[in-house]
Amino acid sequence: MFHGTPARGLPEYFGMAKLKTLDEHNREKVEAYEAELRGCVDARKNGIACPRCGSELLDTHPSLTLMSYPPKKRVGCPSEGCTFTGYRIA
Ligand SMILES: [Zn+2]
Repeated sequence: MFHGTPARGLPEYFGMAKLKTLDEHNREKVEAYEAELRGCVDARKNGIACPRCGSELLDTHPSLTLMSYPPKKRVGCPSEGCTFTGYRIA
């Protein structure tokens, strides 16, 4: 967070930068996510159907468990064009 008196030039920093659209942002994120999923060499099928398209979900990071209660694992859909991600109880 910024504290104190703004210095000269800060309006440019906060307001004048070229902004991307929400669509551009989301498209970038989807592309990054799909690249990550393709690159997950240790991703493992888990026998659970994707709630969006019905394909078998992957544990995208099988060696990682979210230490919540109950503990969870990250899952993702490998299907072309389906971007479902979520968590399953470990
Ligand atoms: Zn899916």
